[in-house]
Amino acid sequence: MDFTFVSGDPALDLTGTVGSRRDEAVDLLRSPADLERWVAECPGLPDDVSADEAGFRLALSLREAIYRLALDRVLDRPFDPVSLRIVNDTAAGSPPVIKLSDSGLCVSGDLPEVLSELARCAVALLADARSCLKECGRTDCTRIYLDRSRGSRRTWCGMEECGNRVKAAAYRARRLASAAAGPELGSGQRPGRRQRER
Ligand SMILES: [Zn+2]
Repeated sequence: MDFTFVSGDPALDLTGTVGSRRDEAVDLLRSPADLERWVAECPGLPDDVSADEAGFRLALSLREAIYRLALDRVLDRPFDPVSLRIVNDTAAGSPPVIKLSDSGLCVSGDLPEVLSELARCAVALLADARSCLKECGRTDCTRIYLDRSRGSRRTWCGMEECGNRVKAAAYRARRLASAAAGPELGSGQRPGRRQRER
């Protein structure tokens, strides 16, 4: 499955690798190789990090700690102390090295440095009182995103991921409703037409 980077912050994008958290959670990071691929695809992180099983477990632990703190922020409640410790301890490590060249930005580092960078992103994001964090408005999507829109009016984690799906579902529901009420609305459709279409 493809990873998406629509949350407005790499730390939130990491938490978004688990979908449908309230129902049957879908975890896109099922192995160290998945994590390596996610890091390579995430903008601003090194593209050749290798992960062993221990590093993978640390990454998942950091991911869940960041998610818990972000959710605490969304629900306007105090931060969970255990998650705070995980994120702060990870953020204390060295971040990846960045270099500027004529070909642009080069980022290099190993997995602990990548995790430190993600924890630092989470700390900066969650420490900023102006960060407007929201959970996506689509019922099944539990992704938390940073709303940077004017007036904080964004409703979906991503238009392509959720906004268009909700709009399409609403459109289908309206069509079904109007088809069911067809004769009364004077649509000109004869009864039984829907059965033939199926
Ligand atoms: Zn969504």
